[in-house]
Amino acid sequence: MASKTPPFTIQDDTDGGDDLRMKYRYLDLRRNAVQKNLIFRSNLAIETRKYLAEQGFIEVETPNLIKSTPEGARDFVVPSRMNKGQFYALPQSPQTFKQILMVAGFDKYFQIVKCFRDEDLRADRQPEFTQIDCEMSFVHQEDILNMFEGLTKHLFRSALGIELSDFPRMTYDEAMLRYGSDKPDTRFGMEFCDLTDVAKGKGFVVFDSAESVIAINAAGCAEYSRKQIDELTEWIKRPQIGAKGLVYVKFEADGSVKSSVDKFYSAEEQQVWLERAGAKPGDMLLILCGEDEKTRKQLCELRLEMGSRLGLRDPQKFCPLWVVDFPLLEWDEEANRFFAMHHPFTSPKPDDIVKMESHDHTLLKSMRADAYDLVLNGVEIGGGSIRIHDRDLQARNFRLLGFTPEEAEAQFGFLLGAFEFGAPPHGGIAFGFDRLNAVMNGANSIRDFIAFPKNNQGRDMMIDAPDSIKLSQLEELGIRVVADKQ
Ligand code: ASP
Repeated sequence: MASKTPPFTIQDDTDGGDDLRMKYRYLDLRRNAVQKNLIFRSNLAIETRKYLAEQGFIEVETPNLIKSTPEGARDFVVPSRMNKGQFYALPQSPQTFKQILMVAGFDKYFQIVKCFRDEDLRADRQPEFTQIDCEMSFVHQEDILNMFEGLTKHLFRSALGIELSDFPRMTYDEAMLRYGSDKPDTRFGMEFCDLTDVAKGKGFVVFDSAESVIAINAAGCAEYSRKQIDELTEWIKRPQIGAKGLVYVKFEADGSVKSSVDKFYSAEEQQVWLERAGAKPGDMLLILCGEDEKTRKQLCELRLEMGSRLGLRDPQKFCPLWVVDFPLLEWDEEANRFFAMHHPFTSPKPDDIVKMESHDHTLLKSMRADAYDLVLNGVEIGGGSIRIHDRDLQARNFRLLGFTPEEAEAQFGFLLGAFEFGAPPHGGIAFGFDRLNAVMNGANSIRDFIAFPKNNQGRDMMIDAPDSIKLSQLEELGIRVVADKQ
């Protein structure tokens, strides 16, 4: 039979828009660029299984119909026909199951597994995504970092022929101080330089009223025109970033200083800043100020943007690192309570356990966890922790997170119960498999590595899902439809 004319050109550089390509995904999948990605992905999964099997891991499947737990992201729920009015949830991760497997005596577990989170979508997020999920018993953090550094090196070697050197380690605090981010892109420097002590107290109210004044040194940018600086200022003021303004100090090629704050600071005073930031003639400092945490976040965005503009984020260069010693808790202004920064099963550092009963927020915020992330080129590709394996400590942690004992029992009684039968110390990690594929290929979008991805509205354009279901199906499920207001 003759083929119809395809609705877009089936070439590497296609003229098809995203939704059209997704609607005719079977044609899109014929393109070399996409085929190459899926073959890469398949190979990476095979190599993961090979490596972990060789290290003594066994792959165990955990269920997809589980129980809804409000902690973490929003759950996708599935109505139960046999238990009317009750719902399963799709797993956000197999976290509690893998811990139960440790109690059951499987010392090394892994699974390449689908996870589901009902969150707003971005280029690097999908409602269903894949993890390399792992757990080990009788381990310390060090054992986990070494094992999974080994896996990552193996994947780079086998899939890309690249030998990675040993991964540097950085504490969370250091990452925030130097890069304003817990997932720093370390392919380039441009580290934060705190100028608060030398910039305040000279009569410039903007700096004087700020908690922090922090700079980055944009090498070779003293030649930036007025227009370019204005454009950068507009960029940083966009609501997504929200800075109030940008101060620049140019270290001209002839050694002179020119800045937007010349009126308030002498050339000598500004020389001190330049020196502290390690600027050379031809460079330009970009300075933001304000509340410390906010300023660091904004400057982190500016650093990444400047890194991109200056061509410093080479997709062929790979800079992995471990970020360790994450805080145990994170304060949520809106909910007016603490949340677990990683998840409620993460163990506080032993020395910090005494702080758990405190009501002092500063003390609680200072608690550190045995939690770690694997970061690659500014992307978090894996994260995990050493878990609590003591029933009482787990119960105390739930209490700290605002669960009443009844709520903790109702939601996680099975885990607390399991811990009563002798739980080994254990810990683990999960890699975002889609992201790992994308980063290894220098790509931004994980969609290019998923055979049938969803669009930004969470829709599968090919099969046209989600869709309404028949009234009879709803009745069977015992679900009453409330009439639409419109
Ligand atoms: N279950 C965790 C997650 O999905 C990973 C882990 O702690 O192993 O982020």
